[in-house]
Order: sequence, then structure tokens, then C-alpha cells
Amino acid sequence: MIEICLAGTGGMKPLPNRFLTGLWAEHNGKALLIDCGEGMQIALAKAGVSLARLDTLLITHFHADHIAGLPGLLLSAGNYGKSSPLHIYAPRGGIEIIRRLCCICPELPFDVTIHEISSEGTIFRNGLEISFMPLRHRIDCFGYSITEPRPPVFSPEKADSLGVPMKMRSILHKGGSIELNGKLITPDMVTAGKRLPLKVTYITDTVYFDGLSRFAEDSDLLICEGMYGSDEYISKMTEKGHMVFSQSAEIAADSRSKELWLTHFSPALTDPEAELETAKVIFPNTIAGKDGMKKTVNTNL
Ligand SMILES: [Zn+2]
Ligand SMILES: [Zn+2]
Repeated sequence: MIEICLAGTGGMKPLPNRFLTGLWAEHNGKALLIDCGEGMQIALAKAGVSLARLDTLLITHFHADHIAGLPGLLLSAGNYGKSSPLHIYAPRGGIEIIRRLCCICPELPFDVTIHEISSEGTIFRNGLEISFMPLRHRIDCFGYSITEPRPPVFSPEKADSLGVPMKMRSILHKGGSIELNGKLITPDMVTAGKRLPLKVTYITDTVYFDGLSRFAEDSDLLICEGMYGSDEYISKMTEKGHMVFSQSAEIAADSRSKELWLTHFSPALTDPEAELETAKVIFPNTIAGKDGMKKTVNTNL
């Protein structure tokens, strides 16, 4: 199970009624955050999540709307009682940039380790597999996908044929083994078929390109940028390294994602929900992101 909270939905600058885009994801009592624009700690406090749980910070790129809130976030996390180490993953140059940004918060009550990423790769954190891929923006920028493996399908028929009592089935279901009349029964003896992992994909900032659908393939939830709703902005946004709603919807449809949340709206786009039509034609399960929006991505789905 992954608990998701879209902390903010803005691009470029925070507004009185819209924080900057960032994703909070909790799993096994620990949290990861993707991006940290100005005011992120306020957005997270307003959403009611606990900063003390922050364990991993993933930075997409070094434009201010994705990183300028870092010193404030770290200071607030310390104030909220965080004492365990924090791991930050960021594009090349991250060690130097983050060190300089954080010279105003030199005495944090927890250790910070910065890892620079390049090209494609995978990070393993607290039972989650986090893949990253270069996007196409004006500077180095990465998309992230978070996956949690799901246990294979439990087969009651196989359990019946082995004579496994009901009260012992949950042990096998959770991955444990049991002994029955002197015989060892392992979980693979009572399962039928693998299941796709739970997957949440986060893509911003980028122009549209084919590889995005492959990266987002089979996402339970795709969170993707869309600066404007109307297709009339496509060429202007491509020039600026961004997308419009219909392009994000293409990615959701092509990747066979289950649900699309749009985010990273232009400050000039005051009512994203009123402009969903172009996206919904392509991918009906498109939702305009709202600050603080939450979802539990569950293993039982
Ligand atoms: Zn941005
Ligand atoms: Zn950017």
C-alpha cells in the first residue's frame, strides 16, 4: 500500500491559493517526497502529513519551483522531530547546489546524504523500487516511478488439495511457510500467477516524447504535468519545455495507466478543471490535481 498526497499543483511560482507541485508518498511508515519548491513545508503541513517521517527526497531538476523550498523544508522537518538520516537524490551538480542552498541551515538534527543520478536507474528504499529516467526539459530533469511488488495470486484450490487449514492460510498468503503433517508447505505451492506491482509515476517538467509512455507503463496512478488545457498552447509550451493536457492524456492512454492526475499548472490557468475536455476525450479517467489531494494505492486493487 502506498499513501499518496499531491502537496501542490502549481508551476513556476506559488500562488495564494496554489502551492508548487510536489508528491508525498508514504510506505511502511516512512515517506518520500518528490520536489521541494518554495513553501513546500507549509503545503505538507496543510495536507496533514508528518514531516518527521521524511526519509527520501527526490529532486526532478534545479529550477527554482522544484528546489527553492529545501532549506525551509529541512528546518521544519527538524522542528517536527525528524532525527533519522535523509537521503536526497538529484541530477548531476546536486551535491554542490544543495550544499550551497543549505548553508543557511548548517545545524540540522539529522544527517543528509546527497546522491547524484544520471541516465536511467533504480533506487531501492524501504521496500519500494524507484526508477528514474531523463526527461526532455531545458536542463537535466528526471521522471520517477515508484513501485511496490505485489504478492502472487493466492490459490484456494491448491491450498485445498494440500489440505491446508483455513487458519494457516494467512501465513502462506503473507509469504511464510508452514509445516503440515511433517511436510513443508511453501508459499509458491499455493499461488497461481504473478501480479503487476503497484506503480505510481511522476512526470514533470518535460516536452512530450515517445519514451514517456514506456516509462509510465501500467501505472496505477500517473501524475503528469500539463501547463495549459487548450491545444493552442502546444507549440509555445514545447518551446518552453512543457506539455498541455492532451499530451499528458496521450501518455496515460498509451501507457495503459489506470488514472491520470494533472499538475504543474501555469499561474495563468486559474481553473484547470474547466479545461479537461481535450484530455478526457483521449483518457476519460483524467483528474485535475488539487493541492492536498490524497489516494491510497492499494494491494487489493
Ligand atoms: Zn517547473
Ligand atoms: Zn523546469
